[in-house]
Amino acid sequence: MKRRRAQAALQQVMQLDIPTLLFAVALCFGLLVIELSVATHGLLRGSREMREWTQGSWLVLLGLLALLLRPGFPESLSVAITNLAILAGQSRFATAIHRFLNDGADPPASVAWLFGAAALAVFVVLGEPYATRVLVISLAVGLCYLPMLWSLATRGRRREASLRSMLLALVFAMLSLFARAVHVLLAPGEYGGPFQPSLGQSLVLLSCLAGPLGAGFGFVLANFERVARRMEEQASHDALTGCLNRGAADALIEHALQRGQRERSPLALVLMDLDHFKQINDQHGHRMGDEALRRFAEVVRSRLRASDVFVRMGGEEFALLLPGTDAPGARRLAEEVRLAVQAMPLQLLHDLQAQEPRPQGGAQVTVSLGIAVSAADHLLTAESLYSRADEALYRAKRGGRNRVECAPALMQQVGTWAAEN
Ligand code: GH3
Ligand code: MG
Ligand code: MG
Repeated sequence: MKRRRAQAALQQVMQLDIPTLLFAVALCFGLLVIELSVATHGLLRGSREMREWTQGSWLVLLGLLALLLRPGFPESLSVAITNLAILAGQSRFATAIHRFLNDGADPPASVAWLFGAAALAVFVVLGEPYATRVLVISLAVGLCYLPMLWSLATRGRRREASLRSMLLALVFAMLSLFARAVHVLLAPGEYGGPFQPSLGQSLVLLSCLAGPLGAGFGFVLANFERVARRMEEQASHDALTGCLNRGAADALIEHALQRGQRERSPLALVLMDLDHFKQINDQHGHRMGDEALRRFAEVVRSRLRASDVFVRMGGEEFALLLPGTDAPGARRLAEEVRLAVQAMPLQLLHDLQAQEPRPQGGAQVTVSLGIAVSAADHLLTAESLYSRADEALYRAKRGGRNRVECAPALMQQVGTWAAEN
C-alpha cells in the first residue's frame, strides 16, 4: 500500500510540466534579483561583491528566460545564450566570493581560464543532440563551481557563519549537475529535448537551480553579517587607535573586578596620559598628533597579554586593565611602556614632517602613568580603583611627567619590587 502511494507520488513528479517548473524557478530568481538590487542600493551599497553577485543573478535570470523562450528562437542561438549567460553569471559569483574572502582582490587567472574552457565546450556541442549537450554542459558548468567551493572551504571556514550555508547550497548545485550528467548516460531516452517531462529531468533541473538560489540568499546574509560585525566593532572601538572605547570598557571593569574577587586574583588599572600633547599638535600639526597616538597604541599593544584590555579613555588618555596582575607586575609593565614610548621610533614622525613642512625641533613623545590595584587583601570598587589610579597619574604629572606612580597603598609592595630589580 505504502509502496503504491510512493509510486503514485513519483508518477506525479514525473508529470511535472518542465516549462511550468522553469517558469516557477525563473520567477523565484527574478524576485531574488529584485531583492539583491534593492539591497545593493541600501545598506550594502558600498559592497562591490554584492554588486557583482547581483549582476551574476541577472545573467542567470537571462539564461533561464532564454531557455523558457527557446521554442520561439533558433535553437543554436537559444542554447548559446542560455548557457553562456549562466556561465557568465556563475563567473560573477566566483569573483564576488573571491573578493569577499580576499579583501577585494581579483580572482587568479586560472578561474578565467576555467570559465573560458567551459564556454568553449558550449560552442563545441552547439549542434549536437540534446542528450550530448546536457552531458557536456552539466559537467562543464559543474566544474565551474569548484573555484567557489575551494574559496569557501579554505578561506571561508572561520568567517561569517552564513558562508557555510552557501557552501552547502553550492555543493548541492554541483552534485546535482554531476547527477544530471550521470542520469543522461543512464537514461538518454528521457533527454529528447529540454521540455520532455521525466522524473530525472524534473528533479535534477530543480536541484540544479535551487543551489544558486540558496547561495544567493546565503551571500546576502553573509554580507549583512559582515556589516553588523563592523558596526558592532565601530560602536565599541576607537577608529584611530583600534583600542576599546570608554563606554565598552566600563562594563568590562565591573566584570573583571567581580571575577578577580571570585578567583581571589588581583586586577591592576594603569591610567596613561601623553605629556604636553597639545604642544605636539601645535608644533607639528594635528596629523602628526594622530600618527603619534597610533604609534603609541602600537607600542603599548605589542607588550600586552591576550587577557589585557587596552582602552582609549578619550583624547590622549588611555588605560590598561590587567587581570591577574599585582602591583609589581603592573609597575614593571608600566615602566616598560614608559621607556618604549620615550624611545618610540620617530623616523615615521619625521617622514610625515617632510611631507608637511613644519618648524624644526624633534617631536619627543613621553607618557605619565598611574597605577592602582584591587587585590584579595585590598578590594576596591570600580570607582575607587579609577580614582586611585587617577590620583597616582596626577602625582606623576606633578612630579615632572614621563614617570610611573602608584596609589599610596601599593608603595610598599612596589618598593619591594624596586629593591629586587
Ligand atoms: P599634560 O602633560 O598635562 O597632559 O598636557 P597635555 O597638553 O597633554 O594636555 P591637555 O589636556 O592640555 O591637551 C591634550 C591635547 O590632546 C589637546 C588635544 O588637542 C589633543 N588631542 C586629543 N585628542 C586628540 C586626537 O585625537 N588627535 C590629536 N592629534 N590630538 C588630540
Ligand atoms: Mg596629556
Ligand atoms: Mg589629558
